[in-house]
Amino acid sequence: MAECKRLPKTETNKEQDFDYTPYDDIAEMVRPLLARYGVAILQEPVEFHREGTLTRIKYQYEVINTDRPEDRFTKHNYGEGADLSDKGINKASTIAEKFFLCRLFKISTGGDPDGTFVQVHRNGSPPSRDGSRPVENGRQPDSRPRSQPPQPNGRETIECRCDQCGKLVTPAKKDGETVSVKSILAASQREYRKNLCADCLLAERAKANAAATPVVYPSQSLS
Ligand SMILES: [Zn+2]
Repeated sequence: MAECKRLPKTETNKEQDFDYTPYDDIAEMVRPLLARYGVAILQEPVEFHREGTLTRIKYQYEVINTDRPEDRFTKHNYGEGADLSDKGINKASTIAEKFFLCRLFKISTGGDPDGTFVQVHRNGSPPSRDGSRPVENGRQPDSRPRSQPPQPNGRETIECRCDQCGKLVTPAKKDGETVSVKSILAASQREYRKNLCADCLLAERAKANAAATPVVYPSQSLS
C-alpha cells in the first residue's frame, strides 16, 4: 500500500469541463504490484439496472492471494454510467473498478472523486441544452442603458445582466442561505452556457425537468 502514490488528475473531460485521473493510470500502477505480491482481483457483475440512459451495475470483487487461494475476501461496489449509445456498461465497469481500486489501496487522486468524476443525469437529459431559447412570453430583453451606480459598500460586486430577461443578476436566497451572483452565473454558464439570473435559471431547470418527464402543465402566464 505504501507503494501506491498519489495520482494527479491528468485528463480533462472537455464536454463537462472537469479533471479526472484516467482508469489506465490507476490500472498501470496497481498491476505490477498485484503481480509482485501475488494478488488477483476478479470483477464480476451481480446486478444490473437500466433506467433510460443510465446503467447501474453492482459488481462483486474477489481479492485473492494467489499463493494461498483460500486467503481471499469479497467486496462489492456499484458503477454507474450514463450514455446515449451503448457504452453505459463499459463506463459503469470502468468507474466501478477504478473506485474499487482507489478505495482498496487508498489511492488518492487529489480531490474528492465522487464530487467531480461521476456526473450522472438521472432523468436522462443531456447536461446542457444548447439551442434552448428564451421563454416565449413575447418579452424582449430589457434594453435600458446599463448604468448602475457603483455599490457604496466596498465589497466586490459583479455586474451582469441576465441574457434572458435583461435584469441585473442579484444574489438569491436558497434554503436560508445567500447564493452569490458568482455562483449563479457559474451554474447558468455550466448548465446553459448563458448568463442567467436566479429566476431564469430556475425557470430553465423547471423547463428541462418538464421536458424530461411527460407531464402536461397548464399554460402559464408570466406577468
Ligand atoms: Zn433573468
